[in-house]
Amino acid sequence: MADEQVGLSLVVPCFNEALCVEAFVRAVEETGVGRMARVEFVFVDDGSTDGTLGVVRRLAEGDPRVRYVSFSRNFGKEAALLAGLRKATGEVVATLDADLQDPPVLLPEMLRAIREEGYDCVATRRTSREGEPPVRSWFARRFYWLMRHFSDVALVDGARDYRMMTRQVVEAILALPEVNRFTKGIYQWVGFRTKWLAFPNVARAAGETKWSFRKLFLYSLEGIMAFSTAPLQVAALLGMVCCGLSFVALLFVFVRALLFGDPVGGWPSLVCVIIFFGGLQLFFVGILGAYLAKTYLETKRRPLYFVREEK
Ligand code: UDP
Ligand code: MG
Repeated sequence: MADEQVGLSLVVPCFNEALCVEAFVRAVEETGVGRMARVEFVFVDDGSTDGTLGVVRRLAEGDPRVRYVSFSRNFGKEAALLAGLRKATGEVVATLDADLQDPPVLLPEMLRAIREEGYDCVATRRTSREGEPPVRSWFARRFYWLMRHFSDVALVDGARDYRMMTRQVVEAILALPEVNRFTKGIYQWVGFRTKWLAFPNVARAAGETKWSFRKLFLYSLEGIMAFSTAPLQVAALLGMVCCGLSFVALLFVFVRALLFGDPVGGWPSLVCVIIFFGGLQLFFVGILGAYLAKTYLETKRRPLYFVREEK
């Protein structure tokens, strides 16, 4: 019987989660998913400075189900997820946070959807943003709107990185070679039959969030740039519109000069127009530069992380 069980890997990125790791393992055990599958824990210590590695190492010594990767420094959650997916051996793999904000209670239901209902992937989203500052929610919603309208991935509002997927999907994700990994977009981009589960927001079990508003804002810009070239097209479009308008204005000035002579004047407005277009051009040169910088970083082909220790 036990031999027929499917292997389920749980990939858990951990950055300063010493207080959460053990509670996490206990929470997974309480779900009873261990009776449905051979569970493997893959903890990725993303350069923690609070003794997370010690906790994970101790767990791994006493428990053959626990494996881990520890980075040489903090490389970010995206890199941690990638390392975990590479390390996972299960036929089914789930990624979830260590802080229990991705409730492990859903694991049995997710596994059933894959094993019995024939889905390749089960994704989750939060139905509420309670406890979040309103400004943050507002920006989050604008971000999802932009992504929906101007990129080739339709991100789901409130989508979490909490997912379960088959080996086939994992291989698809690992086949994407890009260095700038916007995981939410990548999941969506690879496709496959996905079932969505919704759950209300859960507060962190312990510790604190690693995301400041600034970090989130930069992350959303990453997302837009990784999956959309719309900002570049806006530049071309706006340039065309301005050309058209200036042509009409030129005609107007020309005809007026023919009819009424050529009164000199209006140079303040002229200066304003010049400054406006100077600013606009610099702005779009900046956007162009940002894409170029991304291309530059991609061409370096740097590894996304370095492993200091693993088991
Ligand atoms: N995390 C990580 N590297 C980082 C930041 C976060 O591996 O640089 C992990 C963190 O340990 C947690 C998950 O990513 O398991 C989500 O982070 P957090 O809970 O801080 O984000 P939030 O839930 O507030 O969005
Ligand atoms: Mg969290």
